Formats: sequence, C-alpha cells, structure tokens
Amino acid sequence: MRVLMIAPPGAGKGTQGALIAAHFGVPHIATGDLLRDHVARRTGLGLAVQEYLDRGELVPDQVVLGIVREALVAAKAAGGGYVLDGIPRNMRQARAAYQIARELGMTADVALHLDADDAEVTRRLLARAALEHRSDDSVEVISQRLALYHQVTSPIICWYRDRGILVSVDAMRPAQQVGREILTALEAMRPFLDHGSQQTPHSLDLTTLGEAFGATGPDATSG
Ligand code: AMP
Repeated sequence: MRVLMIAPPGAGKGTQGALIAAHFGVPHIATGDLLRDHVARRTGLGLAVQEYLDRGELVPDQVVLGIVREALVAAKAAGGGYVLDGIPRNMRQARAAYQIARELGMTADVALHLDADDAEVTRRLLARAALEHRSDDSVEVISQRLALYHQVTSPIICWYRDRGILVSVDAMRPAQQVGREILTALEAMRPFLDHGSQQTPHSLDLTTLGEAFGATGPDATSG
C-alpha cells in the first residue's frame, strides 16, 4: 500500500498516517517529524531549517525532497509500501515526489485528502499546544500555516483527482471514526492495487458518507 496524505495542519495526518502504516505494515514517513528530529539533534540540516519551522514556513523544497528520497529508498528495501505524511506541500514538490517515486518504481496508489475546516483545526492545534509545546502551535504561526495550506497545498488536490487516485475523507469527526472509514476504503481498494493490474483507478469522495460510519460531532485529534 502506497499512500500520500494531504491535509491542513491539525486535521489528523499524524494520527491517521500512523494508523494506516501500522495496519498495512509499511513505514510512516512524516516530513515534519523527520525535520523536528534534525532540529532536536542539532544537526547541520536541523540548524538550517529551525527558523522555517518556528515561523510556520515551508523549508526549501530540495531539503525536504532529499529527506524523502532517502526515506523512499529505505521503504523500497523494506518491501515497497509507505505512508507519506507532510509532503507534497506545493505543486513543485508534488511533481518532484512523483518523479522520485517513478524512478524507484513506487508511485502512490492513493492520495488521501483529510478535509477539515479552519475553525476546527485551529481548535485542535491550540489544544495540542497546551500539551506538546510545539514551537509552531501558537495562534500567529497556526494562521500562517493555514494560509500557506490554502495558497499552495490545497491546489494540489485537483492534480490527484485528475490522476484518479484521490480519496477525500471528512476529517471533522472523531479520530477513531475517521480512521475506521479510511481503513475500510483502503481495504476495499486493495484488490485493485495489485501493481501491474490493468484496472483504471478512480477518485473517491467519501466526505458525505459520514453517517454510514457513525458521524457525530467533531472531537479532538492531532495533526
Ligand atoms: P507538519 O508536522 O507536517 O505540520 O510540519 C511541520 C513543519 O515542518 C511545517 O510547518 C514546515 O515548516 C515543515 N515541513 C514539513 N513538511 C514539509 C514539506 N513537505 N515542505 C516544506 N516544509 C515542510
């Protein structure tokens, strides 16, 4: 299973990415976590990117793409599946990540879009700020990250829809319900993802299927 995730900060990428990775036994490649790990270890790369993270700006494409290439090479050696969380963040990254994945013979099967509105993700991120003290979970930086998401990340969604690999999920609901819906959708697709299958892929919009999965009000999850 090869999945990449597109979602605003706070929509639950981290939580759902870990769930999908555990379910399918594939590596969870989270660019934000990898970058924060460099910052924590004060590596050269960490020192170079710290300010971008603190300000909620995107680190330069070539830095993230280098990290992702390395992680995908390792994922290939580990069996070829992956969950990419946090990349692509703009169209250039989407095209470059596609090229890298093509070179390695491991392009994504599914682009998973977690749909959640600004008010809800802001509420979740502020709740997380109280617990985790992430340097980028302040009100100002959250609004900067959301603005960037709307300007440069969300336009990529159409690209994946056109490629026929987009699955959109309503992420306004509690994490468990969202997770159950994601795994059900991915399991249903699994037979068609036999690489080499001649099946034409189709995008799926599950954002209106909430009731079938027991939709209630939103609940806190982390992104
Ligand atoms: P995340 O944990 O995905 O919310 O990412 C936290 C921060 O890491 C972002 O606000 C960016 O500063 C940086 N970052 C993560 N992924 C990328 C990416 N693909 N391109 C550029 N910057 C990124």
